[in-house]
This record gives sequence, structure tokens and C-alpha cells, in this order.
Amino acid sequence: MASIEFAGVTKLFDKHAVIKNLGLKIEDGKFTVLVGPSGCGKTTLLRMIAGIDPQTSGSVLIDGKDVTRIAPGQRGVAMVFQNYALYPTMSVRENIEFGLKNNKVGKEERTQLVESISATVGLKDYLDRKPSTLSGGQRQRVALARAMVKKPSVFLMDEPLSNLDAKLRAQMRIELIELHKKLGTTFVYVTHDQVEAMSMADTIVLMNQGLIQQEAPPDIIYRQPNNLFAAQFIGVPPMNVGDLGVEGVKFGFRPESAVLSGDPVLSGYPASLESLESPDNQEKHHYSVRGVIATREMLGSETLYQVRAGSHSFMIKCTEDLYFVDQEVRLGVSADKMYFFGADEKRIDK
Ligand code: ATP
Repeated sequence: MASIEFAGVTKLFDKHAVIKNLGLKIEDGKFTVLVGPSGCGKTTLLRMIAGIDPQTSGSVLIDGKDVTRIAPGQRGVAMVFQNYALYPTMSVRENIEFGLKNNKVGKEERTQLVESISATVGLKDYLDRKPSTLSGGQRQRVALARAMVKKPSVFLMDEPLSNLDAKLRAQMRIELIELHKKLGTTFVYVTHDQVEAMSMADTIVLMNQGLIQQEAPPDIIYRQPNNLFAAQFIGVPPMNVGDLGVEGVKFGFRPESAVLSGDPVLSGYPASLESLESPDNQEKHHYSVRGVIATREMLGSETLYQVRAGSHSFMIKCTEDLYFVDQEVRLGVSADKMYFFGADEKRIDK
């Protein structure tokens, strides 16, 4: 097991800083997920940990030791790639034991390790098959087994599930959580998919344009987003946010402190909210808006409604399917469900 630290790390590509003076500590033994939109620098961070593409300045430390001058193979890390990177002419067994052979591990120990690891990832019956005869999920398991056999102190995974279909992805997410529990090793996992991040991470590191936006457990990022970016990246669908401006004042969508300081604010509230009702309902909400159901999408146990209110559009997820398209509704939100963001896009504490 090992902790990882970035200390004042900058990475330039063609004089352009894709990582900017980054400070980050990744805890020992935790499942940390780096998440953010395409191009925000996630893979670049992973490659710096692995030593494949070193930082331009600053230090990367593994278990407190600066690894800048340590070769990738000596860092005790193993990387699992999106495309699996298996050797097509080798059997599953040969793929898994390849690294061991290179490290001159004896035949008996190799066989034992391959047997036990292939059992852990459910590949025992496939050891003599070629990768081309396996399903996507099975190939992904071979890639995992090949990384595991090295007994690394850190697993680095770069979008390892993105080539799988939705059902298999969901299954593999559970398997990875279980694998992490079993191994107790530090996992650093890169994805642009916030569902993957939310479901697997002990800690999410949310990035945008080479900068960390928030570093926290999934529920904290969801319930207490640092800023507008975090609020709109996390959650399915993400938080409803509107530049309510003058209308915001009309609806009362403004916290007192912002009104007092005269700051322009944005307000928002989560999409999963039981807050639709008939316009005749007299129940008092702190904030309420009349609107019309524009679209209705059945998701299974929930229904997603798009509600139009003036120039604004809100997404509301309900557990009951009570409304139809063109129906007039009232959208009521109590003050404790509302979020407010300042002109700097940081969340304003209520
Ligand atoms: P994705 O989710 O699309 O894989 P990412 O967050 O992993 O994206 P990176 O691959 O880390 O993003 O890339 C970060 C930025 O650095 C991007 O703007 C990318 O174009 C740039 N970049 C990455 N590698 C190189 C390179 N070898 N040369 C020049 N620019 C690069």
C-alpha cells in the first residue's frame, strides 16, 4: 500500500500548462477517483504517477518518497488501460504471467500466482483461451489480473470500463469495489463518468482545466458542492441552476446576505426533488414558480420531468408518475433545499 502526493506540480505541453501548480494528497489504501470533463488533465496525472510522462516542475511522492528520478518499473505501481493492452497471440495465462517471467519469477511460483489471481477475478476456466475469444468484461479481467500479479502498492486505472456495455459496466463497478476491499491497495481511477465516480470512490477528486475543483467523498460533493462547476457536474440530472437575475428577485431566489452585499447570484436546487404539485395547492414554500410540464421521461422507478417556467427550464425527478405533458404545475422549493452561488461561482453558505 502507498500514499501519493503531488507537490506544486505543473505539466506543460507545448508551453501550455495542462496541470497548474497542483497540490494533492491521495490517501493510502483508498479508492480515489479522478473525474472531470474530457481534456481536464486526468490521464496526465495518472501518467505522472506511473512515471510514463513526468511533470515539468514540482514533485510526485509515493509513500513520502520523491519518485521523480525513479523509473516507471521501479515505482511499485501497475496501470490498467482503457483498451486493455493484451498480447493477442498469447493465452490468458501467458498474458497474466508475462511480467513475472520478465522478472525471473520461478515456474512454480508463477503457476501458483496465476491460479490464485485468476480465481480472484473469475478467470480460472479461461486460462488457455486467447484474448480474441473473450468478451469485453473477460478481457478487462485479464488486464486487471495482469496488473494484480505484480502485487503493486498502487493500481492506476484509466477509464478501464469505457469499452463495456452499460450492464457489464455496472457489474464491473461492483467487482472493482469488491476487488479493492479484498486487496486493500491504493486505487487511483480515472473517468469522465460521474456515475462511476459516485458509485465507486471513497474520495472524488473533481478536476476542470487542470485545476482541482473539489476533493471530497461522493455524498459531500453532491450535498455541498464547492462551486457551480461541481454542482453541475455531479448528479443525474445535475442540479438545476439558473441565472435568475431580476426574475430571481421576483421569485425570491436570493439569499439575504447576497442581497445585502448587492452581489449577483445564481441559485440552484437538486433535480431529485419531490416538489411538483398542482397549482391550486396552497401549501407554502419559500420559493415557488408556476410552470408547464414540457417533457416526461420514464426512467423505470422514477420519472424525469422538464418543467418550463418563463424563460427557465427545470429538470425534476419524481418517484411517482403523476403528471402529463402540457399540464400546469407549481414547483415549490423550501429554503433548506436551495443553493446559492456568488459572482465568482463559489457556493455561498446560507
Ligand atoms: P480524456 O477524458 O479525454 O481522456 P483527460 O482529462 O484525461 O481527458 P489528458 O489526456 O490528461 O485529459 O489531457 C489534458 C490536456 O493535455 C488536453 O488538452 C490534451 O490535449 C493535452 N495533452 C495530453 N497529452 C498531450 C501531448 N502528448 N502533447 C500535447 N498535448 C497533450
